[in-house]
Amino acid sequence: TEACLTAIESATTLNAVTTVTADKAREMAKAADARISAGDATAMTGIPLGIKDLFAVEDVPTQAASNILGGFKPRYESTVTRNLWASGAVMLGKLNMDEFAMGSSNESSAYGPAISPWREDGSDAAITPGGSSGGSAAAVAADLCLAATGTDTGGSIRQPAAFTGTVGLKPTYGRCSRWGIVAFASSLDQAGPMTKTVRDAAIMLGAMAGHDPMDSTSADLPVPDFEAALTGDIRGKKIGIPREYRVEGMSASVDTLWAEGTAKLRDAGAEVVDISLPHTKHALPTYYIIAPAEASSNLSRYDGVKYGHRATLSAGEGINDMYEKTRAEGFGPEVQRRVMLGAYVLSAGYYDAYYKKAQRVRALIKQDFEAVFADGVDAILAPATPSPAWQLGAMKSADPVEMYLQDVFTVTLNLAGLPGISVPAGLSSKGLPLGLQLIGRPFEEADLLNTAYALE
Ligand code: GLN
Repeated sequence: TEACLTAIESATTLNAVTTVTADKAREMAKAADARISAGDATAMTGIPLGIKDLFAVEDVPTQAASNILGGFKPRYESTVTRNLWASGAVMLGKLNMDEFAMGSSNESSAYGPAISPWREDGSDAAITPGGSSGGSAAAVAADLCLAATGTDTGGSIRQPAAFTGTVGLKPTYGRCSRWGIVAFASSLDQAGPMTKTVRDAAIMLGAMAGHDPMDSTSADLPVPDFEAALTGDIRGKKIGIPREYRVEGMSASVDTLWAEGTAKLRDAGAEVVDISLPHTKHALPTYYIIAPAEASSNLSRYDGVKYGHRATLSAGEGINDMYEKTRAEGFGPEVQRRVMLGAYVLSAGYYDAYYKKAQRVRALIKQDFEAVFADGVDAILAPATPSPAWQLGAMKSADPVEMYLQDVFTVTLNLAGLPGISVPAGLSSKGLPLGLQLIGRPFEEADLLNTAYALE
């Protein structure tokens, strides 16, 4: 814990940590020591963690990296963090992210972007750690914490993990409780671990997961011993390679590393088969209708009354002015764009054409996966991202859709509710990390982690 606190102090240029809770960390570390002495430790006891700013931690600023939650300190604790503290883990602080988890580069944060510790060969230019869990990825990659929590609505755990050479696991929808996590798109949001190794991810998921009566979508299933599943034996497993994931414009190094990963699994005794997920091409437009629709509804609670920021009114201004001014001041441009997009696709006259249609396509995307799993495929291997991380600012001037296109390999799983893990695969031609993604059957994270362990 002390080593991490020192590292955090000397790495402020990464802008990965938004709040340091040093006193709390030392207190928790002492309690962990006592627990270890008493012979009452778990594998998580005394492990110092960073927490994405989306998780409510009691009495600690929780802003979802947004000005609209300025000054907000929850009086409650998210279930996931409560589970982690019960296992003896230590809270170091809150981590930077895209505002309300909307983004792929951490550039929509009200705190400014987190920066990756990685650089392109021969260049000093700052590189994005990805997003939205960019602070989590940068902090784990730079050894500011041993692991971090992330959330993944459309790739926000897996893409930053891929961009920073770390491991990121998005569990099955319902595996971890969403209670106390600031909502973005409730039917897609899922919390998961961001770690240095697959083994760490297995251990940490075990501590985060579990049924929670406070979240009606949380699955009432036992949490298996994920670490015990890591045998590395994947003989006879059937691995699908989805042909639709070979998209135009994918970088050459991604293609090479994908082939190398496939060969590695085959050498370990897996059977590799070509598969088709025919509705893949509709996943991005479907996601970028459903996610903003749910966001526009979830974010309506930020009205200047209940939480955080409230605009100052002039004489004669009323409650509508307060709503308008508060939201105009508090939300950044990406969040405003999503709220408008969401309100539009949900409005009378457009609901059937956009939202309802997107829900239908979502069902087809899910059926694609179900058909492949029914055919005996145990896991699907694909790239995590179409390219390595880019220089900060490189996407900013571009159309926002440019950035949305980066999520092409990740959003499909959220739409289908499936678990996925990004594992470091090697380096791009310019020396930046790339990740491979394994997609598993629902609630079979143990099996998925074991395949990832063989790939690592
Ligand atoms: N990049 C995607 C988006 O902007 C995913 C974000 C996420 O998973 N939270 O919506």
